[in-house]
Amino acid sequence: MATIGFIGLGNMGAPMAANLIKAGHQVTGFDVVPKAVEALVEKGGLAAASAADAAAAGELVITMLPAGAQVRSVYLGESGVLANARKDALLIDCSTIDVETARGVAAAAAEARFDMLDAPVSGGVAGAEAAGLTFMVGGEAEVFARARPVLAAMGRTIIHAGPAGNGQAAKICNNMILGVSMIAVCEAFSLAERLGLRAQTLFDITAKSSGQCWALTSYCPVPGPVSSSPANHDYAPGFTAAMMLKDLRLAQQAAGATAAPTPLGAAAANLYQMFVDDGAAGLDFSGIYRLFRKPHGKI
Ligand code: NAD
Repeated sequence: MATIGFIGLGNMGAPMAANLIKAGHQVTGFDVVPKAVEALVEKGGLAAASAADAAAAGELVITMLPAGAQVRSVYLGESGVLANARKDALLIDCSTIDVETARGVAAAAAEARFDMLDAPVSGGVAGAEAAGLTFMVGGEAEVFARARPVLAAMGRTIIHAGPAGNGQAAKICNNMILGVSMIAVCEAFSLAERLGLRAQTLFDITAKSSGQCWALTSYCPVPGPVSSSPANHDYAPGFTAAMMLKDLRLAQQAAGATAAPTPLGAAAANLYQMFVDDGAAGLDFSGIYRLFRKPHGKI
């Protein structure tokens, strides 16, 4: 059993913290939204009055925050994690953020003599609830080995990606593939409709052909073929279009910084920007299918 301070109890953080409690750990949580802390207490956790209090409460400190700005503000400064955590605490940031911030905060942690990992996740809210997340982890190998048993209470696949920031690098590359492949699947279904090919028929064929991919078979953006996909629930998220846009922008930022050619990643970022500008920020990212069906009817 470990004592854990958990900061950021949102859509992902809440079920992740709940699984740590289920696994027998003592979790002290903080979120700027008081209701989120109350919900943790109902699940058997303890309430912290601030990020500093949560940081001071654990042998491990785990953060699950929206973006780099919040990660910087929670870790750095007088009331931050680095100034208030126990001297031997292991720090794990599970948020999806830019590689530069991840490496900058890891360097500040190292300077303050803390072990730190960036450990972003894949698998969404369903994966978080089922303790089935994939963790991609950046940091030193010995630190990764220490963190692994705790990460195993929240995820099923836990992979060391290399030094600090490499977890974030893996995450934005993965999500760039996902954004691009989701749009490719939407385009294909839109074309099929115009050609008089039924969606279910295209699904049945492609699921067993070389166009098969996760966006098609696990998360089909067209209502019908995959009962659990957001397409069958009015595109309630899931993983919002705003989050996908954030990740595609992070990929573009990294591509710019390294002069990596990512023309399809750039196109996907632009299409998600259009979709979000259309008022769809809160819809599931697979709802971008509606952009391709526009001339045919309902958006
Ligand atoms: P969310 O917005 O639901 O949760 C973030 C939480 O952080 C909120 O409860 C918010 O109140 C809290 N917060 C913000 N600033 C804070 C601060 N200064 N101190 C304490 N708490 C603060 O977001 P989420 O969906 O849980 O995503 C969290 C991270 O995980 C993001 O980086 C996201 O990109 C990533 N992610 C999300 C999903 C998903 O499907 N939702 C999947 C994989 C990765």
